[in-house]
Amino acid sequence: MSQTEDDGEPVSCRGCGRQATPPALGWSRDGDGVWLCDTCVRDNLRSIEAKLDTEWW
Ligand SMILES: [Zn+2]
Repeated sequence: MSQTEDDGEPVSCRGCGRQATPPALGWSRDGDGVWLCDTCVRDNLRSIEAKLDTEWW
């Protein structure tokens, strides 16, 4: 029991609104507790690589 995720509580993707119960494969959570699904993570990575600016996300 080393996980600190609050599993059992459904979360929704900030990007597309998909819902899942963490830990969901490919999903990532940032420091503000905002979740992104695997698809949106990929989209974000592309944008981050392009802009190196996450403030407006
Ligand atoms: Zn998404």
